[in-house]
Amino acid sequence: MHEISFIAGIMDTILAEAEKKGLTNITGAKISVGAMTGALPEYLEMYFREASKGTILENTVLDINIVPVAAECSYCKNIYEPDRANGYLCPACKSGSGRIVRGRDIVVDSLLCD
Ligand SMILES: [Zn+2]
Repeated sequence: MHEISFIAGIMDTILAEAEKKGLTNITGAKISVGAMTGALPEYLEMYFREASKGTILENTVLDINIVPVAAECSYCKNIYEPDRANGYLCPACKSGSGRIVRGRDIVVDSLLCD
């Protein structure tokens, strides 16, 4: 249910962008959702539908793209997908000090409008 908390942020971002560019009829929004957020697209869509009622985003369709989590090893600079099965270690050098470089937030990539 924590998808609700992301919706306010997504809507604020889209509305701010719309205002900046003078857009009034936004038909779609491309959103990148990091897998680490745990947000599920179907819930995001459902809550967005409810939250956008009565706003200029009422007919906006979300195009949600899930971004896999990626980490960069601080020793060998290898970029890898952290995996619970191997204790989230770097598969190349087995170091445990990776830094998450992708997949932990939600970003509005672009807006479609008429
Ligand atoms: Zn490594």
